[in-house]
Amino acid sequence: MKALIVLVALLIAVYSPLSVQANEDRAAVIPIFDTHMHYSQGAWDIYSPGDIVEKMDKANVGSALVSSTPDEGTAMIFDFAPDRIVAGFRPYKVRGDMARWFENPDLIAYSKARLAPRRHRVFGEIILYMPENLETAEMKEYLNVAAKQDLILHPHSSAAVVEALFKKQPKLKILWAHAGFSEPAPVVAQMLDKYPNLWAELSYRADDIMAGEDLDPEWKDLLIRHSGRFTIGSDTWQSSRWSAYKGLIEEHRDWLKKLPSDVAKKIAYRNAELLLKKMLPAAQ
Ligand SMILES: [Zn+2]
Repeated sequence: MKALIVLVALLIAVYSPLSVQANEDRAAVIPIFDTHMHYSQGAWDIYSPGDIVEKMDKANVGSALVSSTPDEGTAMIFDFAPDRIVAGFRPYKVRGDMARWFENPDLIAYSKARLAPRRHRVFGEIILYMPENLETAEMKEYLNVAAKQDLILHPHSSAAVVEALFKKQPKLKILWAHAGFSEPAPVVAQMLDKYPNLWAELSYRADDIMAGEDLDPEWKDLLIRHSGRFTIGSDTWQSSRWSAYKGLIEEHRDWLKKLPSDVAKKIAYRNAELLLKKMLPAAQ
């Protein structure tokens, strides 16, 4: 009799609508490799590294490429979860450095010291708005360090700046932040056609990729044709984006669901795993 009660209780637990729903939800939630995360100073007092990893877990984000202002933020989260974090380096001590970092000699020594232990795999996210920004003595040094340490560049830049970067160093690998932010699909397509070492990360692009309830046709063709070259990003540059983190990731899942599942898996995490040489922690 006792065994029967246990069996009935077990069956109710397994087949209750709640657990069925949970299983379906898990199946619908494709894991994500977030390739545009910041853990900058403004977030430190609000969220501990443990809170950030908890947010990743709740959004089923397995791994993340993190860069922070200042770089201590990245070190904190990397030390907390080294198996899940890829370190990017941005050469800013304070947010105000963003505008003129590429011509500020004081930041060169800081950057070289931070990069010396070779924990970073990526240089960026960096802001470079104009091709002329590359023509400084400091920028020459940064590009030399990037080449020497085999760092992938993560520039927030127009297509013209990405072209200028490849002109200076054709062997660079570039993860193009926000796929150029405002560059339209045909320009992103041309760039990916022209440069085999270019990948494009899609933070802030969900609104362009979706046209109403469906995928924008130009973006759909591009995402399928270059399915091996896109990655997902959240861009948590201010604390309000941390409070909205799960929603930012869900926005991406909304359009990923509309793609063939092999394409969606590549863009959601597989491309980032290959580019950044870091597997998601759980077996997929
Ligand atoms: Zn960013």
